[in-house]
Amino acid sequence: MAEQQSGPDLDAAFFIRWLIACAAAVERDAAHLTDLDAAIGDADHGSNLQRGFRAVAEVLTKEVPATPGAVLTLAGRQLISTVGGASGPLYGTLLRRTGKALGDAAGTDRAGLADALGAGVAAVAQLGGAKAGDKTMLDALEPAVEALSTGYAEAARAASEGAEATTPLQARKGRASYLGERSVGHQDPGATSAALLVTTLAETAEAGA
Ligand code: ADP
Ligand code: MG
Repeated sequence: MAEQQSGPDLDAAFFIRWLIACAAAVERDAAHLTDLDAAIGDADHGSNLQRGFRAVAEVLTKEVPATPGAVLTLAGRQLISTVGGASGPLYGTLLRRTGKALGDAAGTDRAGLADALGAGVAAVAQLGGAKAGDKTMLDALEPAVEALSTGYAEAARAASEGAEATTPLQARKGRASYLGERSVGHQDPGATSAALLVTTLAETAEAGA
């Protein structure tokens, strides 16, 4: 039913629940993400995100920011400072820019989040210089943001389909691009983790407060 409206209200506690659930999902799928990165990268995507999201979960047990914007900004900062790989600055920028777009409002709704995430994804594209079809996390994030204006489940499905659609592509950005044609035939690790984060968002929204 929440799918029909833009609500319910998404407050700071909602974003904390989402990020803690992301940390658990990353722990669960770390080996798979690292396996994907072993095929077309340097086999560290799972451990990179594990380090980053453990730090995010830990800081959120010590600090409880009052607004969605402050939660996302804090989490983004943690990812940037703890993850060595390309994904740290990129996901960190996604969360920080999304947080900045949310400003200091006490809450938002699905439409507001879709707008803010749109700004976050645009910042990722600007930082990494990638565009749709380059076989990166953007191939999951861009369709997810678009579908989020329809619903959470739609966003999760769009992200997963976007990640799966990276398999036949040749990487044009990041480490996998060094492989040229040999990157074809493997699902992109970052698009896969992006789909995991969006799926976790949908699960958190469905679970309610
Ligand atoms: P590293 O490549 O430094 O080892 P990770 O393995 O943690 O970092 O992350 C790799 C993922 O980061 C890739 O699968 C891809 O989705 C994403 N990525 C790499 N470079 C870019 C870029 N320029 N723009 C967007 N995403 C990128
Ligand atoms: Mg890597």
